[in-house]
Amino acid sequence: MSITQKLGRIPLIQGTLEALQDLLFPPYCLGCQRRLDHSRPPLLCADCCQALSFITPPYCLGCGLPFAGGSSHLCGLCLQHHYAFDRACSALAYTPPVSSLLLALKFSGQTTVVATLAALVRESGACTLLHPPDLILPVPLHRLRLRERGFNQAMLLSRHCFPQWRNRIAPELLQRVRATRPQSQLSGRQRRSNLKGSFQLKSSSALRGKHLLLVDDVFTSGSTVNECAKTLRRAKPAAIEVFTLSRSLDKGQS
Ligand SMILES: [Zn+2]
Ligand SMILES: [Zn+2]
Repeated sequence: MSITQKLGRIPLIQGTLEALQDLLFPPYCLGCQRRLDHSRPPLLCADCCQALSFITPPYCLGCGLPFAGGSSHLCGLCLQHHYAFDRACSALAYTPPVSSLLLALKFSGQTTVVATLAALVRESGACTLLHPPDLILPVPLHRLRLRERGFNQAMLLSRHCFPQWRNRIAPELLQRVRATRPQSQLSGRQRRSNLKGSFQLKSSSALRGKHLLLVDDVFTSGSTVNECAKTLRRAKPAAIEVFTLSRSLDKGQS
């Protein structure tokens, strides 16, 4: 058999393997467990896809807060230089099914949802808004939390959402040195004080003059990424951008 004939068979073999896999492990919608007729991410049925809320303009050009109408501009907090980062953007609103997928990832260890979340990020086009970073810094977990969970969701999201920049991920440069109460249990003011002194730089020289991209799963009040950005500022980077997979639009928490 010629090499061309052999290569021609590869898609056929791949297709057969995928069909066999679907037969043995039938694909289900990760949002509502309904059976799917495809196994390519995003693993969501038409109804769950319909429920997705992509973040689109108009929004704040600083922190990414979506506006109900008008054109994109800076919000009140950004006009007051409230945040230590230069810019933040998110792909999706923190509503079902995205919120349930993230909860399944963080609290049930369902790492299989990451491929679906990354496919949604690609669909959102949010990544195209980002400046190509020199370094990607996943928001770190404290070592005790990391040991308990077994993985850092921000690290998984960095790898899957930005495969083209995978070799720029530097998880060791920013460290979480204080174990804190989960931010989700706290009010806005408590969130800010809870995080004080939580992060530390491993090496300032590696960050100096660099374009940094901080990655996390949810932007709620922005306290976590802001505390990270404050710590990173000490190293005098060229810019700090923030990407979060989702953003909570609950105004009470902003
Ligand atoms: Zn569904
Ligand atoms: Zn803003």
